[in-house]
Amino acid sequence: PQRSVYPTRFESFNMGGKIPLGLKRKGLRILVTGGAGFVGSHIVDRLIERGDSVIVVDNFFTGNKDNVMHHFGNPRFELIRHDVVEPLLLEVDQIYHLACPASPTNVVGTLNMLGLAKRIGARFLLTSTSEVYGDPLQHPQVETYWGNVNPIGVRSCYDEGKRTAETLTMDYHRGAGVEVRIARIFNTYGPRMCIDDGRVVSNFVAQALRKEPLTVYGDGKQTRSFQYVSDLVEGLMRLMEGEHVGPFNLGNPGEFTMLELAQVVQETIDPNAKIEFKPNTEDDPHKRKPDITKAKELLGWKPKVPLRKGLPMMVSDFRQRIFGDQKNPAT
Ligand code: NAD
Ligand code: UDP
Ligand code: UDP
Repeated sequence: PQRSVYPTRFESFNMGGKIPLGLKRKGLRILVTGGAGFVGSHIVDRLIERGDSVIVVDNFFTGNKDNVMHHFGNPRFELIRHDVVEPLLLEVDQIYHLACPASPTNVVGTLNMLGLAKRIGARFLLTSTSEVYGDPLQHPQVETYWGNVNPIGVRSCYDEGKRTAETLTMDYHRGAGVEVRIARIFNTYGPRMCIDDGRVVSNFVAQALRKEPLTVYGDGKQTRSFQYVSDLVEGLMRLMEGEHVGPFNLGNPGEFTMLELAQVVQETIDPNAKIEFKPNTEDDPHKRKPDITKAKELLGWKPKVPLRKGLPMMVSDFRQRIFGDQKNPAT
C-alpha cells in the first residue's frame, strides 16, 4: 500500500500555507529544538513545506510525537530524542531554539545551543517571552521596557530563565559574533496546544467541550492578548530571515479580560457553559498587551487572525484529540 509521505494534517491550520515573498530560499538545514511541541511543530511544517531539511531535537517533556508524525518517512525530516541540557554536535545553517521547560535547565539548554551555533556558524533564534516584562508598569509593552519581575516569586524560574537566556544570546552575539535573533512571544493558542498544561485558552476550551465549568482565576478582570499560532510562525520566520537582531514583540494586540475570553469560548462552543471563580495564582500579571510597532516596521509583520476566527480552528483540533473520531460527542 502506498504510504503518504506528506500528509496534509497541517494544511488547514496555517491559513492557506502561503510562503510570503522573500522567504523562498531553499535547501537550508535547520535545527528546531522543541520541534515536537505546540509552536515548534508548526514551524517544522512550514520549513518542510518550503523545501528545507529539518532536524527536530526534543526530549518529549511536554511535546509529543503525534505533532510531527506526518513527516515520518520524509527524507528531509529527522527526529532526535535528546535533552538540550546535554551537549549536542550537529551541522546546520539555522537554529530555532524553542526547547524550554519552566525550570533553570532552560539556561543550560540555551547555553549549549549558543555554543553549537558558535562552533558551526549557524544563525540562532531564541523564543523568549512576554513574561520578561513581569507584572508590567507600562502598557502596552514596548521592547525598550525593562520589565517588572519578582526575582524570588513562584513564576520567577521561567521569567528569569528567559531573561538570562536573552542575556546569553546577546553576549554570544557581541562576544563571539554569533548571528542571533530574539522574539518575545505573547500568549499563543491554536491546534496542537497541550491540552492539560493549565494555560487559560486550553483550559477553557477543554472545559467547555467536556461540559465542565470554565475556571476563572481571581476576579477575571486581568487581561491577556491572544495570538493565533500561524501568525506567530510567520513572525518567527520573518525574524529569522531578516536582518534585525531584536528583541521583537510577537503577539496580537487584541486585549481581552479573562471574563471576556470565557464569553468568546461560550459563544464558540457552548452558550450554556458555566463559569466558576477560583483563587488566582501569586504574582499574576494584571495586564499584558504587545506594542508591535517595531515588528510592523522592520519585519513587515502583523497578525491576521483575530481570536474569534482562530478559536474555532483550535476547537476542532481539541474536539478530535479529546473525543477521538466520534462525531459531536458533547451534544
Ligand atoms: P511546548 O511545551 O509545546 O514546546 C516545548 C518543546 O520543548 C516540547 O516539545 C518539549 O518536549 C521540548 N523540550 C522541553 N525541554 C526540553 C529539553 N531540555 N530538551 C529537549 N526538548 C525539550 O511549548 P510551546 O508553547 O510550543 O513553546 C515553545 C517556545 O515558545 C518555548 O520556548 C516557550 O517558552 C516559548 N513561548 C511560548 C508561548 C506560548 O504562548 N505558547 C509564549 C511565550 C513564549
Ligand atoms: N556545545 C554544544 N555543541 C557544540 C558546541 C558547544 O553542545 O557543537 C556546548 C558545550 O558543551 C558548552 C556550551 O555549548 O557547554 C557552550 O559552548 P562554548 O564553546 O561557547 O563554551 P566553552 O565550552 O568554551 O565554555
Ligand atoms: N487563568 C484563568 N483560568 C485558568 C487558567 C488561567 O483564569 O483556568 C488566568 C491566569 O490567572 C492568568 C491568565 O488566565 O491571569 C493567563 O494565564 P496563562 O497561564 O494562560 O498565561 P500567562 O499567565 O503565562 O500569561
